[in-house]
Parts: sequence; C-alpha cells; structure tokens
Amino acid sequence: MNLLARFPLPPVIINRQNRIPVPRAKSIESSSLMDQPKKVIVCGGGVIGVCTAYFLAEKGAAVTLIEMSDVACAASGKAGGFLAYDWCDGGPLEELARVSFNLHRSLSEKLDGPRSYGYRALTTLSLTVRESERASASRLLPSWIDGPARSPKTIGTPETTAQVHPQLFTRTIIDRAVEMYGVKVEIAKLERVEVEEGRVGSVVLEGGRELEADAVVLAVGPWSSKLGLISSLFRVYGLKAHSIVLEPRDGSSITPHALFLSYHSSSGGGALDPEVYPRPTGEVYVCGMSKEEEVPDDPAEIRGNPESIAMLKRVAKTVSSHLGEGEAGLKAEQACFLPCTDDGIPVIGEVPGVKGCYVATGHNCWGILNGPATGAALAQLILHGHSAIVDLKRFSPSRFLLPSNP
Ligand SMILES: Cc1cc2nc3c(=O)[nH]c(=O)nc-3n(C[C@H](O)[C@H](O)[C@H](O)COP(=O)(O)OP(=O)(O)OC[C@H]3O[C@@H](n4cnc5c(N)ncnc54)[C@H](O)[C@@H]3O)c2cc1C
Repeated sequence: MNLLARFPLPPVIINRQNRIPVPRAKSIESSSLMDQPKKVIVCGGGVIGVCTAYFLAEKGAAVTLIEMSDVACAASGKAGGFLAYDWCDGGPLEELARVSFNLHRSLSEKLDGPRSYGYRALTTLSLTVRESERASASRLLPSWIDGPARSPKTIGTPETTAQVHPQLFTRTIIDRAVEMYGVKVEIAKLERVEVEEGRVGSVVLEGGRELEADAVVLAVGPWSSKLGLISSLFRVYGLKAHSIVLEPRDGSSITPHALFLSYHSSSGGGALDPEVYPRPTGEVYVCGMSKEEEVPDDPAEIRGNPESIAMLKRVAKTVSSHLGEGEAGLKAEQACFLPCTDDGIPVIGEVPGVKGCYVATGHNCWGILNGPATGAALAQLILHGHSAIVDLKRFSPSRFLLPSNP
C-alpha cells in the first residue's frame, strides 16, 4: 500500500471513450443574510481554513481568518498538490473528492489557476524501481525517466488527475478572498473558544484579546489535538512526512507525468512508496518517508529527519539522471504533518453541544484535493444550516459520541 495511503487499489482503469463528464459545480444557494452579515472567525491558515474563509465570504459572511504563523506555512504549503477525480471511489470520501476535483477545475478557470498556482492536468504512472537493476526503457515512459523503472502502468489520465502548487494555491485563494470579498487576516494564535450556554460567543487569542463571533471554524490541522474543545471529543494525530524540491538544469525535458513508485533500495528493508511530481514551475517535488510523531507547538520548528531526506535524494537520482546532484539544484528539503483521525475520515461539522462552533480537520493525504469541497460545504452548513453540495453526515464530529459496537 502507498505510504500516504492514497494509491487506488486496484488501480482505476479509465475507458477513454467514457470520459468523465465535468458536472458544473453546484453553486451555494444565495445567502439569506440580507441585514447583518454573519460574523465568522476561521482559525487556521492552511488549505482547509483558507477555502472555508473564501466560500463563506463569497456568500456574504464577514470573515476573519486567524493564523498563528503564516498562511500555508505547514502541510498546505509543503504537500505534493496531486488531485485525483476517482481514486477515493468506493470509500467514504467518494462524493467529497469528486465534487472537489471539479471545484478545483472551476476555481482554476475563475482565478487563472495555470498561471496563478500551476494548475494543470497530468498523466499518472505507477512504477517499480529496484536500485540493483539496470536502466530500462518502455513505450509508456517519457525519456527523462531513465533509471531502472519496471512495470509502468497508467493509473491516471489528464481527465482524471491534475495538480496544483499547494502553497501558491492556498495563498492565491486567501489573497483573492481578501481582495474580492473583504476577508481580514490576522496573525495571532487562538488560545480558546468562549462558550456561553451551549453557544459560541467569542475566541480568545494569545495575549488575552477577545474577538466576538456568531460562528467559529476550527481548521488547525494536526494542531487540533492542542485545543481542549476538540481533544475532549476525538483524537487528531500528526503523521510526519518528508519532501524535497529539485530544480533540474534542463527543466524542458521533464514532462507532466506524476509517478507513484514501489521503490526497492539495494541496502534492503521493505519497499518504499515515494511519489514524484514535476511542476510547471520547472521544479520536481519528491515526497515520502512518513511516521507518527508529536507535532511541535510552532510550525517553524518542524525539521526533516536527515536520513529520510537523504533517501528521497537517492530516489530522485535513481529515477532520473536529470535529478541527480550536479544536474539539479536543491530548492527545499522539508517535513510537515498530515492531520489524521483514528477512523481515517475527515471531521467536518458542528461540534456537538456547542452551537456555532465548527471543526474541519483530519484530511490526511487528501487535504489539497478536498479543500475546496470542504470549504464550500461548510460555508453552506454555517450560512444555511445544511450542505447541498456534499452530504456531510458521515463527516460529523458527533460520530465520536456513538458507541463503536452498538
Ligand atoms: C508530504 C505530504 C504530501 C502531501 N501531498 C498531498 C497531495 O498531493 N494531495 C493532497 O490532496 N494532499 C496532500 N497532502 C495532504 C495535505 O497537505 C493536508 O491534508 C492538508 O494540507 C491539511 O490542511 P489543513 O488546513 O487541515 O492543515 P495545515 O496545512 O497543517 O494548516 C493548519 C494551520 O493552522 C495553523 N494553526 C494551528 N494552530 C493554530 C492556532 N491555535 N491558532 C491559529 N492558527 C493555528 C497552523 O499554523 C497551520 O497554518 C500531503 C501532505 C504531506 C505531509
């Protein structure tokens, strides 16, 4: 199974004659906020918080986004940015992922995604790479993949797989939400949510400043476990994953092919499952090597483990001579945390017993894909009491109140 647990098993085979239609994204019903815009505070400047702020403000809410460090400073800025239409089919994320893939496409049309944040369609291949084997060639492999790659399979086509540069995407969404819909961004740390008679009243920031709110959204990713209101209800843990960003000297030879590898090192150990994403910016992003670890308080303190980074460099140069030392500059080596829940399903909905307080977290390895649909659905829930774009029932935090074996 893929390291980040998103590889479709078995790989989805798409009949090209059966092209996936592009349903028009359902629009959020027009707001009934005729008199007073609802005052909503969104906590967390990752892709989930930013998309929620965007869709809330688009529909007329007065939104303030609170971020303790920088917008897209954590996983949302360091992810791969891979998007797939149907890889979550058959599971609880199917509808969310499909709606979100299409929302990405319509957002890209509206916000000039190709130029603003590197949105593009991709072909996606799976490969087996054994360091001990000799270089091989195959009709399916573009020429820059000149290492020992075996058994290539097409597991995604430009109709069903795409990518964004996640940091540019997240920052574009918040910038446009500020310019077009008046969202305010404050760099401050949420300390707690004030609850009065079972309803949210305000948030208290570090230093004691209090901001009143009609509704509050907690979208703080793997830091959710540090908020008592959430940790008293369910667990969110962080899975630390590593990545490097390379800049090949000859970027023009790198084609838009995303690679999902089964990688066998000659020093032994089990197969690794790193992923390689060329970007239209000329960069090549390589990620993998994850393990559960405590999330530090400050995102700026997250450092990659040197052995994991060294392994990703080794993967890169084995897959392609264009990605080896001397042929490619090293633009970044980094780590960040996937926000995970015990049942592997995101939590999106109102916190039981606290009217007006909403949570959106636990998106694991699909937060960039599912950010737009999560934000659009939550905006509908908050403003209209019901989400029409995606059925949020299965994501409700109230599932943690139910006995697991009734
Ligand atoms: C290596 C790697 C590769 C990935 N690749 C992909 C991919 O290709 N496709 C995909 O769909 N997904 C991918 N993901 C998953 C995706 O990155 C995450 O699911 C997503 O970014 C989570 O977004 P988030 O907004 O919940 O959390 P984060 O991005 O972690 O954002 C949370 C924000 O909350 C802020 N915050 C925390 N506490 C507070 C507080 N008390 N007050 C104020 N602010 C606070 C933090 O500073 C942070 O900015 C990848 C993840 C990793 C690690």
